[in-house]
Amino acid sequence: MKRVADRVDNLEIPKTISMTVKARELAEQGKDVISLSLGEPDFDTPDFIKKAAVKGMDENYTHYMPVKGFPDLREAISKKFKRDNDLDYSIDQIVVSTGAKQTISNVLLSLVNPGDEVIIPAPYWVSYLEQTKLAEGKSVVIETSIENNFKITPAQLKAAMTDKTKLMIFSTPNNPSGAIYTQDELDALAEVIATKRDFYVLCDEIYELINYTGVKSSLAKNPKVNEQVITVNGLSKGFAMTGWRLGYMGAPKWIADACDKIQSQFTSGTSSISQRAAIAAVEADPSEVDYMVNAFRERRDIVTEGLNAIPGFDVLVPDGAFYIFPHVQEVIDKSHLKDDMELAEYILENALVASVPGSAFGLEGYIRFSYAAKAEVLKEAISRIAACVEELLSKE
Ligand code: PLP
Repeated sequence: MKRVADRVDNLEIPKTISMTVKARELAEQGKDVISLSLGEPDFDTPDFIKKAAVKGMDENYTHYMPVKGFPDLREAISKKFKRDNDLDYSIDQIVVSTGAKQTISNVLLSLVNPGDEVIIPAPYWVSYLEQTKLAEGKSVVIETSIENNFKITPAQLKAAMTDKTKLMIFSTPNNPSGAIYTQDELDALAEVIATKRDFYVLCDEIYELINYTGVKSSLAKNPKVNEQVITVNGLSKGFAMTGWRLGYMGAPKWIADACDKIQSQFTSGTSSISQRAAIAAVEADPSEVDYMVNAFRERRDIVTEGLNAIPGFDVLVPDGAFYIFPHVQEVIDKSHLKDDMELAEYILENALVASVPGSAFGLEGYIRFSYAAKAEVLKEAISRIAACVEELLSKE
């Protein structure tokens, strides 16, 4: 009998992907579908980065390289952490991986024993939960809501901690809510984290550059917890480099060594060519990508205003990333639909706009729209959603 391992059966197909598949099927039937379901910038990688990759190939950087990344790339990342985040990570505390996704799985596999608890504030990026399952950890979800700006409080964190708590994983700027923790808020959480010295926190800062507030914050900056924090970042979002597969982390050296060991058995070092390109990206002044951030800000304003005007949609203005996460429970309650999944499907089928239900991110009653699309497309999407929701509610 053909039977895969339980760990495969236990994994969920991300709803982000299943909505995209449905959207593609409709598009193949000739329907004009607007896809706001995927999490990638609609820009191309900047030329100066592509040139660095070509130069790398010409210089024959095409062989195996150190598992945790070329020393000159780790040096550049170390300087970037200092320059942009005021964080001190030496090059032996840095590991470069095949996307931040692999960085996160390295950390989980390095720290979590079967049955260890992993705290995951919701809404969360889907992979945190699934990767925790793969590491045989037990996820402990802390729910937030639009009322508290999608941020956990120190009291909530304290209440979720037990003797078995090993790790917490969260992102700021957050996917899917766009919320950003201020330094004060992180420092308040640090007070609680510091009470348990064998508790570690993975702070996922992959959307760092897509920040409309101008305020930078990092949990690892707090000296009370910097021995407990792993700071994850990568090039996919800020530099429009999703296909290059390059993520990295700064961490206490023993954790970096463990991740190096895990990675050496899975993939070895990430693509040598992507690494040469990454040097150009992290050495560049972040203002090089301001044109993308400015475009995202304009689009954020368009979708915030547009969605807010739809009756039953409650919108929090996102501070960063390129998603908006309206609370739509009122629409669900007033309609014949059962939940956010059915509403997302209804919007896909009737407005031909693909989104992702909040339940995919651990929070029912919300919907995520990505606004990494052209302004005209977003305006069209909003007017279709508005018409479709109006029709839905008029039928009831
Ligand atoms: N972390 C968050 C919060 C994300 O949204 C994503 C991608 O969607 C990642 C990590 C993974 O990024 P990468 O492309 O570097 O694997």
